[in-house]
Amino acid sequence: MKTIFKSGENADAIKQAAAILQNGGLVAFPTETVYGLGADALNAEAAAKIYAAKGRPSDNPLIVHIADKNAVYELAYNVSEKAVMLMEAFWPGPLTIILPKKNIVPYGTTGGLNTVAIRMPSHPVALSLIKESGVYIAAPSANTSGRPSPTNAEHVKEDMDGRIDMIIDGGAVGIGIESTIVDMTGEIPTILRPGFVTKKMLEDIVGPVTTDKAIVCPDAAYKPKAPGMKYTHYAPKGELTIVESITNDNTAVIDKINSLVKEKTNAGHNVAIISSEENSGKYNCKNIFIAGSVSKDETVAARIYGILRQCDDISADFIFSEAFDKGALGSAIMNRLLKAAGQRIINV
Ligand code: AMP
Ligand code: MG
Repeated sequence: MKTIFKSGENADAIKQAAAILQNGGLVAFPTETVYGLGADALNAEAAAKIYAAKGRPSDNPLIVHIADKNAVYELAYNVSEKAVMLMEAFWPGPLTIILPKKNIVPYGTTGGLNTVAIRMPSHPVALSLIKESGVYIAAPSANTSGRPSPTNAEHVKEDMDGRIDMIIDGGAVGIGIESTIVDMTGEIPTILRPGFVTKKMLEDIVGPVTTDKAIVCPDAAYKPKAPGMKYTHYAPKGELTIVESITNDNTAVIDKINSLVKEKTNAGHNVAIISSEENSGKYNCKNIFIAGSVSKDETVAARIYGILRQCDDISADFIFSEAFDKGALGSAIMNRLLKAAGQRIINV
């Protein structure tokens, strides 16, 4: 298969991509969170192609992208008052809502579940593509399963060239981590995956919200309610370790990372550091990637996946990262980083 590349600014690109989707093909496209790999969500055969291209486990369901809030009623039952309040408050935007699925949605899209994940993205290219094609687009992140999610078209090309029909290049995404997923099938809304829309933002709209236990205690024996959250994910090829101070002792973190870097470098390994802007001058290492400022954690969210890919580009054997858990996006960033690290964390 030869992959077509087109810029999102090319008016023809959306038309061509829409035709591919209507014919059951695969198109990668930008959203405000990460790049998605899209197929017709109501066509089980087309959805199956997504799993094949990504090497994605078949029990890991896909998010259905819509361009009009009313589409929810075609896809799902029991759209509660609270669900509507969240749709009104956060759509279009980085919030995915889980509801009981209608028969029209094939099990091939929902990984065999009786529920469906739905989101209305805000990225203009994503919205135009859904509208132009007239298709609800099932779209997980456009990476090979297990690799960091793509935040620009080059990342998609690295993983998907020759495996999909088309990539629409809309430049770098704005947010950089996947949508918040909230399960609206129970009495109390439950966060299954933290994201740009925080618990506080949800609670300001609908009152009390809980978080899936498996997210809060990733080490414990809880099974995540979002099947995808159980897989080691977002991981670079090198061994990533997070170094954190429970007492906010920044110097202790820097000293520990410097000593780990020295030890691994002396043993002949290629080592990288993921640093905050504030600390970047305090390390002795030839590969220092600056994730962003601790006081502006949206910069960290936007860069973190790209940095994990850069660690692969330089063939880093060992990667040591600071923790980025302080700001509003702290739980979303740390959820991704801890998974990339296989939960490896050193407390100093
Ligand atoms: P991705 O788009 O690659 O970030 O993956 C979609 C995420 O949504 C995965 O973690 C899935 O497990 C989760 N998801 C999709 N549909 C459902 C559903 N019906 N119930 C729970 N989680 C879901
Ligand atoms: Mg993904």
